[in-house]
Amino acid sequence: MLTLTGKSVFSGVAIGPIQFYKRPENIIKRYHIEDIPAEKKRFEDAKATALQQLHELYERALGEVGEGGAMIFEIHQMMLEDLDYCDSICNIIESQKLNAEYAVGTTSDNFSAVFAAMDDPYMQGRAADVRDVSERVLGILTGVSASTAGLTAPAIIAADDLAPSETVQLDKSKVLGFITRRGSASSHTAILARTMGIPAVVNAGDALDESFDGHTAIIDGFSGTVYIDPDPETERLLREKKRQDEERRALLLELRGEENITLDGRRIQVYANIGSPADVGAVLQNDAGGIGLFRSEFLYLESDNFPSEEQQFAAYRRVAETMAGKKVIIRTLDIGADKKADYFGLEPEDNPALGYRAIRICLTRPEIFKTQLRAICRASAFGKLAVMFPMIASLSELQQSKAILAEVQEELRSEGLPFDPSLETGIMIETPAAALISEQLAKEADFFSVGTNDLTQYTLACDRQNQKLEPFLDPHHPAILRLIKLAADNAHREGKWIGICGELGADPALTELFLAMGIDELSVSPAMVLPLRKRIRSADLHKLSPELLAPYQL
Ligand code: PEP
Ligand code: MG
Repeated sequence: MLTLTGKSVFSGVAIGPIQFYKRPENIIKRYHIEDIPAEKKRFEDAKATALQQLHELYERALGEVGEGGAMIFEIHQMMLEDLDYCDSICNIIESQKLNAEYAVGTTSDNFSAVFAAMDDPYMQGRAADVRDVSERVLGILTGVSASTAGLTAPAIIAADDLAPSETVQLDKSKVLGFITRRGSASSHTAILARTMGIPAVVNAGDALDESFDGHTAIIDGFSGTVYIDPDPETERLLREKKRQDEERRALLLELRGEENITLDGRRIQVYANIGSPADVGAVLQNDAGGIGLFRSEFLYLESDNFPSEEQQFAAYRRVAETMAGKKVIIRTLDIGADKKADYFGLEPEDNPALGYRAIRICLTRPEIFKTQLRAICRASAFGKLAVMFPMIASLSELQQSKAILAEVQEELRSEGLPFDPSLETGIMIETPAAALISEQLAKEADFFSVGTNDLTQYTLACDRQNQKLEPFLDPHHPAILRLIKLAADNAHREGKWIGICGELGADPALTELFLAMGIDELSVSPAMVLPLRKRIRSADLHKLSPELLAPYQL
């Protein structure tokens, strides 16, 4: 038995075989072949498998993001069946007597170059699709696939680290949990695991070797421990812990339908955070009062190209309709830093967390922003949506964002497309600057939601991605709590509400303090909604010392 210790990102116990996450090797071997029909058959077989995978992805995406979002997989299937594309591959195999991998790689380069050189931006976009489809076939031919698409049975995913875009594409129905050698507990990958309710341990160290592929592992998400090839006694103990955890969660379900009210009668909204329409099931199951943070950028990360207005509209509408009149706060695109998608063409930066991200991208590439705002506004006719801008650091950024929103609403009005004209418009308080000028911002925003993950990173000057800084990344630091209190006071002075949607909102050690500060809403991962409700229902604000808030007064 090997015991590894890392950082837990979601409590819970997972038991199952390890499967290593593989990324494609971009080096394509070129070698001569003798048996041409056999090599062509290798390609045909790989193509058939790829078509099957794309069909399954289409079905899954249809359920998760609707027809608009699923369409890309249909296009990929069509591309893979394109006669010119297939002829080119077979021709290279036949005339040059070269292997299928080389033929696919070369055809991919040639065809994508042709598309990229076209004038029409739509056709240029197809270059990425050709590469994507070809990567899939290459992955099948070489046995090195960039995903867990080949997962046939539930497994624990192991990796060096996972990017948010990779995590979001995991087949959640088959992922029991995941372990990474590196990574920090406040990264977006960790947040996704929490949202998905998957036991996960990050930063488990180099002993997590690929030779353990297929071996049984147990993740103890309570202690951040991973046991590989567990001995019978450890397995027995952990199975018992798993059973108890499941029992505790079942008990919590009895709190469904109950109010989020303290013993002395103070009510607070408890909402949930999501990354995709697929998470709405967990939101409803855990009885959240609404969605306090829809990280819309994950729609972009799941995609190979900019999601169109229709694709986004379908996703937002589905969430709005499913939530049936409960509030859904859609945060506009927060791409950049650790959340990257190739098609944005973002340049490498020395300090990505302090870089070109979120609202900064939206305000300088308004065509991207407007497409998203149009989709959100159109979906607002189907439920109770609110929009929220990330990474605001100045009043003018909020004013510019609102001006673009107003422009979009005017366009929709003139096109006769319905939307909710009273759409609430809020901002994230996640830069110290925003907290410090919250007095002005509160006059222009309908609400605030504190992003404690970034607020902590920027206030303490600690990169949230850097695992070495975790001992210094103290989210209870009085500087952060003071900024939250300041923002809360300023919001309330203007009659606006304030919530917390960063991970700190779920910290039971701070629940009473947040209630005492007058925080109106806490938005947490779906699995934390009921534990938080339990915590609130046992709080008694009357019993708190009047001095509780004194250290946080600015
Ligand atoms: C935050 O920064 O606290 C937040 C909620 O946003 P994200 O974690 O997506 O950066
Ligand atoms: Mg943030």
